[in-house]
Amino acid sequence: MVDFESVLIKHKFKYKKALGQNFIFDGELLDEIAASGGADGECVVEIGAGAGSLSCAIARRARRLCSFEIDETLFPVLEETLAEFDNVQLFSNDVTELGIETVDMLIGEPYRVIANLPYYITTPLLFLFLRSSLCKSVTCLVQKEVAERVCAADGSDFGALSASVQAVAEPKLIRIVKSWEFYPQPDVDSALLRLDKTDGAVYSDELYAFLKLCFTAKRKTLMNNLTSGGIDKQAAADALKQLGHAENVRAEQLGARGLMELGALLGKC
Ligand code: SAM
Repeated sequence: MVDFESVLIKHKFKYKKALGQNFIFDGELLDEIAASGGADGECVVEIGAGAGSLSCAIARRARRLCSFEIDETLFPVLEETLAEFDNVQLFSNDVTELGIETVDMLIGEPYRVIANLPYYITTPLLFLFLRSSLCKSVTCLVQKEVAERVCAADGSDFGALSASVQAVAEPKLIRIVKSWEFYPQPDVDSALLRLDKTDGAVYSDELYAFLKLCFTAKRKTLMNNLTSGGIDKQAAADALKQLGHAENVRAEQLGARGLMELGALLGKC
């Protein structure tokens, strides 16, 4: 078993808060993340290899692991900690700059994402992979509040983020991970979140723009939000009526499926 902390010390590694570097070293937790993400026998993409602790847990189960890490000072560490594996490819690119088409081209086969995400780019990363035509699922550690919002079915937590994710994937909060389970310890607790892409669902700019419009002002009715975005009042009223809703309904009352049906009726997604 590799002693990741000793290897980091040996290479005089300095943690960079700006890169969201909160590492995990607990073997049981790491294996639970790899297993929950469905790594067994699969091609897996990891964002942020860090010292390679989660990478090792995934590589033991996966057929192939493609791991991205942008901090070059970690490369000598990873060379040592991942030395025993011949199924790991390390990429130094920033996936958010590459774009999903290039990422998919690099991987070249269906894959699952498993990651302890750098928190400063959680949302863009989630949406990046929701747009992928090859990504089957995303299992990642995110801030607890973000996971709760993603999974909310209705109520005050349900908003554009919940609707956008649920429009193309089925989210599941697997477990809470306390802040003390990371090093260095972040300010907030995290949650292990799994998103399974819905067969045939395609995420588009139009869908995202429509869902954002539905939640423009959360205190206003859905009708008000739609008309403020230029949608004809009568068309919105007819569509709501057709779906069995009153004119004063709020966006969160429709849920992700209802909002998508509304968007389709209005020709917006
Ligand atoms: N996987 C390791 C673990 O669980 O201990 C490290 C996780 S740490 C939360 C996030 C990692 O993502 C850091 O190593 C950081 O350098 C890396 N990172 C930050 N921004 C990145 C980006 N745009 N692309 C790839 N990796 C990034």
